[in-house]
Amino acid sequence: MAENICVSVRVRPLNKREEECSQREAWRVVDGKSVVPTEHNPRNGQGYSFAFDNVFDNVSTSEDVYDKCARGIILSALEGQNGTIFVYGQTSSGKTHTMQGSESQPGIVPHGISFIFNEIKHVTNSQEFLVRCSYIEIYNENITDLLNPKNSNLKLHTNPKGGVYVGNVTEPVIANAQQAMELISKGAANRQVGETKMNEASSRSHSIFRMVIECRNKSDSSGAVMVGELNMVDLAGSERQSQTQATGARLKEGANINKSLLTLGNVIAKLSEGEQSHVPYRDSKLTRILERALGGNSRTSIICTITPAAVHTEETLSTLKFATRAK
Ligand code: ADP
Ligand code: MG
Repeated sequence: MAENICVSVRVRPLNKREEECSQREAWRVVDGKSVVPTEHNPRNGQGYSFAFDNVFDNVSTSEDVYDKCARGIILSALEGQNGTIFVYGQTSSGKTHTMQGSESQPGIVPHGISFIFNEIKHVTNSQEFLVRCSYIEIYNENITDLLNPKNSNLKLHTNPKGGVYVGNVTEPVIANAQQAMELISKGAANRQVGETKMNEASSRSHSIFRMVIECRNKSDSSGAVMVGELNMVDLAGSERQSQTQATGARLKEGANINKSLLTLGNVIAKLSEGEQSHVPYRDSKLTRILERALGGNSRTSIICTITPAAVHTEETLSTLKFATRAK
């Protein structure tokens, strides 16, 4: 178990459609730390119990999730430590709700943004901050700049000093929370959305909202700058392709999505074993881009979202197994 990796699970409430086909809650949260099958779960009585750093039940708010899973990492980023926050789970389990949320229920990103600019406003006159943001999407191993979608085939380059960077990406300097939120609305409108046979406008791509926070001590004449990189990642739906009956181009796309999620799982599993070498970052673009903010002394938080509906038990189990492997 690695200290720098926090693994949490959030169970959403049953939705209307699930309630209408008389679904009952198939998972129960115990003490905010574990999740177990109920008597409505086909796997009930089979000894399943999954324990994590935090488990949020269906009345938890996104603010609770932010406080326990994100705030600490964001504070560290202001102090120059890199961090990555992920939401992982099947389509419509609550990833975007948790990460972005809505006006009435803001998610991790808007909470994080107001926190960062509030902190900056209240620092002493001795420090100077510079915040830059970018928003990209990885779809079928192809990187698009969500702030300039004409830029749809961004390339990765290796920095001679180490690490990988995205060439040509739009990365404006942001002066306040409102500017950052405007940027996000603009980017979100450009996200790729595909209609699958699950009757959902499901997200088939990974999106990375990145904030690079530079801090300089005005009294430090050497000009030394402290840099913290923060990634907030809304992953593609984790569902297996068999379930969505994909064919042709969609099947290939599914293979790529699964490949990067599989690689992500392998990378996190290695890191959580305390391994820093032989980590397979190079196996997918997602992990290459995030490399600097995953290993080393970076902090990672993974929030796995699940539906309590019994029909989705197998997908939920697969999500819980991903979460277990990350621990
Ligand atoms: P995903 O991004 O994983 O595909 P969404 O975040 O879009 O899923 O969630 C699907 C629907 O369920 C949305 O209408 C969302 O508002 C709702 N939802 C998800 N999680 C919760 C929650 N914890 N509480 C209330 N509504 C939720
Ligand atoms: Mg989504």
